[in-house]
Amino acid sequence: MAFTGAGISTESGIPDFRSPGGVWTRYDPRDFTFDRYVDSAEVRRNSWAMRREFFAAAPEPNAAHRALAELEREGRLTAVITQNIDGLHQAAGSRNVIEVHGTAREVMCIGDHPRAGIAEGCDFRAPTTWAFERIDAGDDDPRCPRCDGLVKSATVSFGQAMFPEPLEVAAQHATTAELLLTIGSSLQVYPAAGIPEAAKRAGAALAILNDEATPFDRIADVVVRGRAGEVLPTAVATALGR
Ligand code: NAD
Repeated sequence: MAFTGAGISTESGIPDFRSPGGVWTRYDPRDFTFDRYVDSAEVRRNSWAMRREFFAAAPEPNAAHRALAELEREGRLTAVITQNIDGLHQAAGSRNVIEVHGTAREVMCIGDHPRAGIAEGCDFRAPTTWAFERIDAGDDDPRCPRCDGLVKSATVSFGQAMFPEPLEVAAQHATTAELLLTIGSSLQVYPAAGIPEAAKRAGAALAILNDEATPFDRIADVVVRGRAGEVLPTAVATALGR
């Protein structure tokens, strides 16, 4: 099983959160909380503009995403649990992808005035292009076409409750994995970072590939310090005897 973070996508041109030059050295996280999104039409407009900027860059999967897809095709990887919202694992051909922080490729209804960080909308979901089309048609704060609730990217924002289902599925996988490969995660964002720890506790071997130290290095069986797009294709080719 693989557990991936923002670091697997930096070589696709998507900045991570914590590295120098990463997202949070340029934006203020306080502007991106769930409650601020609910309270302010301006925050919603800015969020759509940021999302559009993200897709305009048309990020492509890199060699690390492709290596994991190949491992799955060869029957050696059961699942990719990812904290990423970029959809690049699926674009690379991975099929069993569990997105614990949701996806930026879709939007969802979160209800008229959700509180306590819990999305409480109807079951409306649509591709993110739906929102862009509404905005282009002159509606800069698109509302749910079914119940008139607020519409938000189907991602987990700061201050927003996690979606329970992917987290449960991920935790289940963690208890059955023989080997958990953690790639490109600072392992500082909980509860997601608890998954490798749970896998290790349940008896899995833990391998960490990251370009800087992580708090879990001391309990890992293997630690590789390097770039995902360089190390992973070689490691996968070796594992597959190529
Ligand atoms: P993080 O930013 O906390 O950690 C990323 C880690 O990857 C860092 O330790 C960094 O040194 C390392 N890294 C960067 N480039 C690397 C490379 N090429 N090879 C190996 N290691 C590399 O990210 P996180 O642990 O995923 O947690 C932060 C949150 O960021 C997650 O919740 C995720 O949802 C969100 N996020 C997602 C994206 C995305 O979808 N691509 C981008 C930014 C943030």
